[in-house]
Amino acid sequence: MAGGISCICGAPLVEEVTERGVYPVGGGPLIPFSRPTDYVMCESCLRTYNVRSLMARAETAEAIESLERLAEKVEEAEQG
Ligand SMILES: [Zn+2]
Repeated sequence: MAGGISCICGAPLVEEVTERGVYPVGGGPLIPFSRPTDYVMCESCLRTYNVRSLMARAETAEAIESLERLAEKVEEAEQG
């Protein structure tokens, strides 16, 4: 399926996104999604990403651009 996804700050966000969960950077067991509203947080800048959006983005080749737009939405949501 998809490969790793990086945060817009450049830090690796997840090793791999699958339909069932995400694999953490640096290896480790699958972190299953428990809720559709789960977020993945960047360890570098603490920016958060909705996992369902990550899944969708991971299936495209436009990951970086899409994540930037997603991040803007997340910031708006946090402010609201
Ligand atoms: Zn980051």
